[in-house]
Amino acid sequence: MATNITSVLAGVEPRAFWEHFEKLTTIARPSRHEEPVIEYVRAWGEERGYDIRQDSARNLVFAVPATAGRETAPTVVLQGHLDMVCERQPDSPNDPAEGRIELQVDGDWLTANGTTLGADDGVAIAAMMTLVEDESLPHGPLQLLMTVAEEVGLEGANGLDGSLVNGTILVNLDSEEDGRLTVGCAGSTDTWVRITQARERVGADEVPLTVTVSGGLGGHSGSNIHLGRSNAIKVLGRALREAYETVAFRLVSLNGGKSRNAIPRDAQAVVVVAGNRKDELESAIGKATATIRDAFAKTDAGVTVSVGAGDGAEDAWTEAGTAALLDAVALVPTGPLAMSPDFDDLVETSTSLGEAITDGDTLTLHSLSRSSNDSALPEVIEALDAAARLAGGELEVKHNYGGWRPNLESPALAAAKRSYEQAFGEAPIVTAVHAGLETAVIGNKVAGLDMISFGPQIEAPHSPDERVSIPTAGRFWRLLVAFVDEVSKPGGEQR
Ligand SMILES: [Zn+2]
Repeated sequence: MATNITSVLAGVEPRAFWEHFEKLTTIARPSRHEEPVIEYVRAWGEERGYDIRQDSARNLVFAVPATAGRETAPTVVLQGHLDMVCERQPDSPNDPAEGRIELQVDGDWLTANGTTLGADDGVAIAAMMTLVEDESLPHGPLQLLMTVAEEVGLEGANGLDGSLVNGTILVNLDSEEDGRLTVGCAGSTDTWVRITQARERVGADEVPLTVTVSGGLGGHSGSNIHLGRSNAIKVLGRALREAYETVAFRLVSLNGGKSRNAIPRDAQAVVVVAGNRKDELESAIGKATATIRDAFAKTDAGVTVSVGAGDGAEDAWTEAGTAALLDAVALVPTGPLAMSPDFDDLVETSTSLGEAITDGDTLTLHSLSRSSNDSALPEVIEALDAAARLAGGELEVKHNYGGWRPNLESPALAAAKRSYEQAFGEAPIVTAVHAGLETAVIGNKVAGLDMISFGPQIEAPHSPDERVSIPTAGRFWRLLVAFVDEVSKPGGEQR
């Protein structure tokens, strides 16, 4: 009972682009399992006679000769990722991981029935293929860089053999906002504050309580970090610490957060307290909760702290250990730390406490710190190191990749602005993102690359609600065509 998906996009322009896009939706390409799509684009490139290179991370580079008269233009690298997030509704018969995506057109939007669509980043691969197939579109020498495993921590870009890239301009086709040229993004560093404190048996007169934080909005730990949303681990730490000043107790466990990349929405602690002071502790936590909820009244009004009965525990940290651990939770910063000097309302540096994990006598606090300014991050890491040391613990640091610092004097940006204005008769918004893009990693591997990123309007990526705006995909295509023409015009470099 095959669905005739071709009919869905019949008559939608640009036709060749949508044909390539539709074909890609029939080929499985989950992150780390891109073999079917790698085989497909390889066969396509071989048939067209391109020189094809592949590195050990499995990224592909296709060398595409210039069109007539554009041979001396600078080489432009067009870049996008082959993999996609394969999410589906549990009851959906469709599954992107098996190449079963059922396209649906809903007004101006293209979506998939019950699954992710893979417009992130299928639009990039489709646009590259369409561009180089159309002999009427002028361009200089091109390299098509198709990366793998972007959706799992930029793994493919991290494994890229930079010597395969010989272009001087790179266009990343993985942005998700129409009308914008992106010229910067954040680099990131993971840290783990690890504190080990002594534990003692729970006494016969001590009773357990569970303290739970829930109801916050959460969100992306980078692009939503400046919105004043509650961090469940910090809220839990604050409620416990304020209550501790009234009634001392002992911490059995403290856990929260599901991912380094999300603002935690849930956290839970188990404590033990002398039986005759249990009510006093509950009311102290209640009092602290009222203040905390008031603090978030305008930005995250749903956050709540509740206290319930706890399961019996064998041992708990000592009172002194408990105080040290709560001090550490208080000291680990979370939130925006500096705003961009180039763009309004954009965060330059931030840190987000993402996970709290109790394991035996050790509490681990895992943070993800970001900045587009590589020189700003060491101060953040030093503060986390100091917090660990003051609480009697230590810090583990894993530097992921440096930032892509905006260069507003970039010739590629100037050319993209000219192309945009000529195509649409208005100026684009120039911006940067407080999140990771492959450009950050690639730019750190290939010296001197002048980079820019743009794309169509894609909403709810990574979820079964993912959709791409059809008219903006047309605009994305026109901008790409205009840009590769503009930067390859004879004398274009001097403009
Ligand atoms: Zn993407």
